[in-house]
Amino acid sequence: MSSDRYPLWHPFTQMARFHREPQLVVARAEGNRLIDTEGREYIDGVASLWANVHGHSNSHIVAAIQAQTAKLQHSTLLGITHEPAIELGRRLLAHLPGRSHVFFSENGASAVEVALKMAVQYWSNRGQPERNRIAVPEMAYHGDTIGAVSVGGEGPFRDVYGPLLFEPLRFNNAYRYRCDNCATETSCTDTCLQSLGALLEARSKEIAAVIIEPRVQGAAGMIVAPEGHIAAIRALCDKFDVLLIADEVATGFGKTGAMFACDLEGVIPDITVLGKGITGGYLPLSATVTTEKVYQAFHGEEGLKLFHGHTYAGNPICCAAAIASFDIFESEQVLVRARERSELLATLLADLVADHPIVGDIRQQGLMIGIELVGDRETRAPLPAEIEAGWQVCIAARDRGVFIRPLGDVIVLMPPLSIEEDELTQICEAVVYGLNRVPSV
Ligand SMILES: *Cc1c(COP(=O)(O)O)cnc(C)c1O
Repeated sequence: MSSDRYPLWHPFTQMARFHREPQLVVARAEGNRLIDTEGREYIDGVASLWANVHGHSNSHIVAAIQAQTAKLQHSTLLGITHEPAIELGRRLLAHLPGRSHVFFSENGASAVEVALKMAVQYWSNRGQPERNRIAVPEMAYHGDTIGAVSVGGEGPFRDVYGPLLFEPLRFNNAYRYRCDNCATETSCTDTCLQSLGALLEARSKEIAAVIIEPRVQGAAGMIVAPEGHIAAIRALCDKFDVLLIADEVATGFGKTGAMFACDLEGVIPDITVLGKGITGGYLPLSATVTTEKVYQAFHGEEGLKLFHGHTYAGNPICCAAAIASFDIFESEQVLVRARERSELLATLLADLVADHPIVGDIRQQGLMIGIELVGDRETRAPLPAEIEAGWQVCIAARDRGVFIRPLGDVIVLMPPLSIEEDELTQICEAVVYGLNRVPSV
């Protein structure tokens, strides 16, 4: 379709480039594959932007959506309630020990906004309104609304909107491959934790909460923190009496090998943010889940309530999809299988991808993978930006029937948990095919 007649403006997309490149028009999807209007199949290597869990067109989830659609399509949660939301609340809490209440929204960014407002109002309701700053590691990503961008990393996502944003307090993130202190050491030097410790030591009385993406900083380039990092941050928050918000929008629902990334270290955050995979990746829904301690600070007089609510929050059809997704988790050993698949993927990456001359670092946690491309493996110098290597690899992979999307020069793989063994091989071979098409420097 010619660009002047094309009606859409796509998210995070340079439209001039969109109209220059071959377009992929998805017509339907089955299992782990997207099928375009020409009938070509592509493995959904990024789970439709990190959301899909059990594959597409899953008959159990589709039937649950259909049944709920025939019964009640929408009714508000402002002051009244409905059964699918109550049941989903119970199902979520059964997997979130130590948590007591679920607040629904419609997307990840909104659920982050809720978490930030909850944290600040928690301290205000408890008579400490001066605790109103948010602490966040460098390179964070929490969504694209103004509050979520405020706590996001510096750079093009944020800088242009600067005048609209509030300033968080920042500490070092756990980016070993490019850390000034431990990049070349045999083990992590914990500089990042020391920087959070120093920040809390100096300013905890003005801090409401620390917000993290537990274990994996997704949009930063799948940066995997070392084992023990979440627990150490939890301990620091306890020591200085600061709330911990865990944004599990990307890491939740099995993507890391555990149901939630915080489970990897037995950590209970004060506020947990869920989105993306919550409905199995079928419909928009998100949740901000909290503990009795936080909930109780809002309980009582009218003025203590949380001033927030979205029209379609906790929509019953979305809840039905999420309940059906939990049925599958509980009946089909999904996590066990996902861990087996991630071990196979680690082997394939080591055998096929790791030795390629422009592959600098491969980071993996469960089925979340980042392959960082470099111009020089010794110095770790990046490739010249104008090559757009990440983009070239992903466009080329389509020739081999694989759909993936890069984050700059980091190739991201994040297949559905239902991915098959032969599909993982096909994904890795497509990556190698793409890597071989990047012009040498
Ligand atoms: C994707 C993402 C969000 C934003 O979710 P949306 O549904 O796109 O608003 C927030 N936090 C993290 C960690 C994410 O990966």
